[in-house]
Parts: sequence; structure tokens; C-alpha cells
Amino acid sequence: MIAQRATTFTESVIREMTRIAQQHGAINLAQGFPDFPMPAPMKDAACAAIQGDINQYAITWGAPALRLAIAEKYRRWYGLEVDPDREITVTCGATEAMAATFLALVNPGDEVIVLEPFYENYGPDAIVADAKPVFVPLDAPKWTLDPDRLRRAFSARTKAIIVNTPHNPSGRVLSRDELSLIADLCQEHDAWAFTDEIYEHIRYAGAHHVLATWPGMRERTVTISGLSKTFSCTGWRLGYAIAPAAASTAIRKVHDFLTVGAPAPLQAAAAVCMAFDADYYNHLARDYRERRDVVCAALTEAGFTYTAPEGAYYVLADFSALSDQPDDAFAKWKTREVGVATVPGSSFYHDPALGRSVVRFAFCKKRATLEAAAERLAQLAARV
Ligand code: GLN
Repeated sequence: MIAQRATTFTESVIREMTRIAQQHGAINLAQGFPDFPMPAPMKDAACAAIQGDINQYAITWGAPALRLAIAEKYRRWYGLEVDPDREITVTCGATEAMAATFLALVNPGDEVIVLEPFYENYGPDAIVADAKPVFVPLDAPKWTLDPDRLRRAFSARTKAIIVNTPHNPSGRVLSRDELSLIADLCQEHDAWAFTDEIYEHIRYAGAHHVLATWPGMRERTVTISGLSKTFSCTGWRLGYAIAPAAASTAIRKVHDFLTVGAPAPLQAAAAVCMAFDADYYNHLARDYRERRDVVCAALTEAGFTYTAPEGAYYVLADFSALSDQPDDAFAKWKTREVGVATVPGSSFYHDPALGRSVVRFAFCKKRATLEAAAERLAQLAARV
């Protein structure tokens, strides 16, 4: 009774771990959502929009004020000129932007390169589009990209590469050289880059580089990002895809068919935050650095090994010095017995064997939450 494509989806392990955490009253460092409030001016703007009767469909591809604000932000921050009327599609989260991009631009049988470990949604994205994912490792412990392996993965069958930087789950921020190599390979093989830049403002070193600004890449890049991480509002489900006009037309049609549009009053409020000044972003990054330092210290103390993230809000930590259980058993045991939930590493690999000794900690949490987790983790070694 069930279509084959759905049987090949695994349930989201990330969201499953949230449910298990709730069952056991554990601190949830599994799913990456903040437990602190979003900016007050955005909440006020959303309430005002609802009271002001902005409660019907927005234009399918996004309210004009929001698209204008997005275009203005890309000009100001990244020097990227974007036509808000023809090149931006506002979607229900970056998740829908990526799915719509796959459906709009990838043909059945096309190969799409995915750097591994990878955020679990890219697997189902490929299945829905009938694409063939080709995995290229980011090598532990530093999560570096081997240029030769990447080069070998590209061929005439390559339709696109997914470029997620800062990277979930490893925290790697790709260097300019790595992005230049990706840009060269895309041009050599006439391939797209679909970028997932949702963590663009959460960085601990260096700048965020937008691949679409590389020479020759503007016309072959779909730049995907959204509000969830930058403005701590994962439940608002607001993202967008920036792409050349012809690609945007296709993405817009898929988006219209899938969801009609993103919530209109929240789009009205989102236009407000796009204009926040550098101060907001500096605070965001500084607060995340503090959270990162609390978690990293706790992990060292507890006996995990890891490379401190350069960006995003995750640490992929190896627990082989603590336990020889497989990752999923260890993650469940730790949730139940220690009271700290994480995501088992295997859910970020196409072959679960590759992630058996790691778990992912999300640290987008209040300092008090992280300190409570640190106390519990300090007991871990004694309990295994
Ligand atoms: N992006 C977040 C994470 O990786 C949430 C994703 C989700 O709920 N699937 O945890």
C-alpha cells in the first residue's frame, strides 16, 4: 500500500531523538533548535501583522517587502546583486527551498554530489527527485575535503553539488580554496551548486563566503538560506532560494505546487529583521562562541574527542574512549541514564558503519541548559 520512495526514507533520527529526550526528561542537545527567545522586534512585528489583517496568501514566491529586504541584505553583506522580482523565492524553511530546487533542476538519474557526513534531509531530497547521490567524505578529525576525491566524483553525469557551509554536523567552514575548487569543477562539468548557508552568521573564525560571488558561479548557483538559525525562529519556517531567473521560475512553480507560500504575517515580520545592523550579528556570533566553549570544555572533561567547530552550532564528538557501544545504542543509553540527548552519528552517513563512534551535540541552548548538561556529562564516565 505504500509507495516505494516512502519506504526508502528513514524516519528523521534527529526528531526521533527529541521525542526520546522528552520521554526521559533529558536535556535535548539533539535537535538543533534554540531554547531561548527570538528577537523581540520580530515578535512584535508578527503580532502587528496579524492584528493588521495580513492573514491571507502572500504572493506565492514571497511578499515584495521581504524579497526586497533579502536583495538589499545580499547587496550590503556580500556585494551580490539580486533581482527581487525574478531571482528570489521565499519558501517554508530552507528545507523546502532545497527540496523545491532538487525537483526543479535535477532530472531522474542525475548525480548529485554530497559531502559526507551530511545533514539527513539531503538523502530524501535526492530520493524524491530520483537523483543518485554521490558521497565524498569530509575526513575526520578535521573534516577536511580531499581535492582529488572531489575531482574524481565529478563527471558528465553530475548535475549538482550540495555545498553546506558552515557545515552541519561537523562545524567545518569551507575555505576560499575549497570553494574555488568547487567553483572550478562546477564550471568544468557544467554542474549546479546548491548551497545551504543556513548557518552563515554563526561562525567562530573568519568570514562567510558566498559561492555565488565567485567568477562564473552566479549563473550556476542556487543560494539557499533562511531565518531559522540567524533569528532563532526554527518554527517560523521561513527560508529562501536565490537563483538565476530561469531557474527561479522553475523553483517558483514547484514551490507554488508544494505549499502555495510561506506564512504571510511572518513574512511581513521577517522584512524587519533583514535590516538589523552589524551589532545584532556580532552579538549572535559572540553568544554562540560562549556556548561553544561551555560545551567543548564539558566534552573534553567527559572524555570525548572532537574538533572544535569553526561555525554552526554542533559538535560531532567521538566517544570510543568511553564506550564500545554503537552510536545509536550509546545515544539512547546516554539519554536514558545520563539525561543528555544527542543525535547518533550514523544518521549523517549513507553507510551507518561510518558513524558508529560519534554523536552530535547541538549547543543552541541557554547557558544554564548547557551548564546543566555539563554537570550530567561529568558523571558519564563513571556510569558506562
Ligand atoms: N537543522 C536542525 C538539526 O540539524 C533541525 C533539523 C530537523 O529537525 N530535522 O538538528
